[in-house]
Amino acid sequence: MLSSAVQRSTLGLHTLEQYEPLVGTATTERIAAKAERMRTMRVAHVSSTFYGGGVTELLTPLTLMMNATGIETDWHLIQGTPGFFGCTKKLHNTLQGESVDFSDAEKTIYEQVVFENATRLHLDDCDAIIVHDPQPLPLITHFPDREMPWLWQCHVDLSSPYPPVWTYLRQFIEQHNAAIFSLPEYGQDLQVDQQFVTPAIDPFSAKNRELSDREIREFLSNYKIPTDRPLVTQISRFDRWKDPMGVIEAFRKARAQVDCTLVLVGNNASDDPEGGKILETIKNIADEGIVVLAVDDPTLVNALQRSAAVVVQKSTREGFGLTVTEAMWKGAAIIGGNVGGIRHQIKDEWNGFLVSTPDQAAARMVQLLKDPGLREQVGSRAKESVRQNFLMSRLLEDWLDLLCKYER
Ligand code: UDP
Repeated sequence: MLSSAVQRSTLGLHTLEQYEPLVGTATTERIAAKAERMRTMRVAHVSSTFYGGGVTELLTPLTLMMNATGIETDWHLIQGTPGFFGCTKKLHNTLQGESVDFSDAEKTIYEQVVFENATRLHLDDCDAIIVHDPQPLPLITHFPDREMPWLWQCHVDLSSPYPPVWTYLRQFIEQHNAAIFSLPEYGQDLQVDQQFVTPAIDPFSAKNRELSDREIREFLSNYKIPTDRPLVTQISRFDRWKDPMGVIEAFRKARAQVDCTLVLVGNNASDDPEGGKILETIKNIADEGIVVLAVDDPTLVNALQRSAAVVVQKSTREGFGLTVTEAMWKGAAIIGGNVGGIRHQIKDEWNGFLVSTPDQAAARMVQLLKDPGLREQVGSRAKESVRQNFLMSRLLEDWLDLLCKYER
């Protein structure tokens, strides 16, 4: 017999009924009717980690919701050596625009490890396969007799992929039935259908659920986060594209005008080998007004996003930026890098602020720290824009529409 806490925290929280108060009965009934038509379908997602990063954040609730609506949905992981994940991180970086060549030796490691995974994965018994990001991309070449649609979803910022690497990956991408990107501006010159699905958040997860003031105080105190000064925070993997150094530079400039504490929190995805070095660099330059925490605690993320005077996501590349959505859902005053998916979420000076340089970020930090009324105003608009556009019920509906389109 499951404990009542487990019963409450599993499928019960991933049904469409939970969303009724947030998005309305007409919407949940429309989605339920679409799901009903597809009830006999079996779907498999393939990605490279259960741990860390936005893909995991999406697939955790999405796969549970799909199952809760009656669509049998699996989630498979590919396994790899550190050498393999070094290669795939390089692919990730080049897709986001870095000009580094992918050598023949790296191609061999990449393709060999994916081949070994293909040998282990028995995907023939499904009606649709959804492959996420570049790590498992060549899998398709090992299923020549496939009858079901294979869809490749790319979650990174594809505004300027490095051409030689893109040309190499195209041969795999174009074998799929469709390539799915987070934003229309990531569309590419490809001989394959292109579709666009924007990510979304689960408002009932530990990271996004309502917290009492007491819970918030307890979590901040457990991690020894000082609350005597207003908090500025960035919560992100320790990744150069998230620009933690730019955040520190901006914070130091802002602190010269308004007293505040910076809290940098980061976990590290198990398929991201670069995080450790970046964390070391940050720790070396942090001073006593900067708290650096390398932890993975969704409730801490929740508490910080709810208690910070200013939440920053100063990325220089960002596929979508779920941390932005999560902070906006909590009514936080947000400053985001003017790139990729952040631009899609923040309307500058309406529901947050967009910046391109540390100086601009510092100026907005000072403005927001001095003006609680402005924080309140942009924060409440931010919350409403997430309610309208970026909740999981919308993502589920997008996927039902896509699966219906490609169903055989
Ligand atoms: N995240 C977290 N703890 C951390 C850092 C990040 O739980 O210390 C989560 C964050 O809340 C978000 C996801 O990891 O849900 C990151 O997704 P995003 O789209 O912002 O960036 P990605 O890591 O996919 O580049």
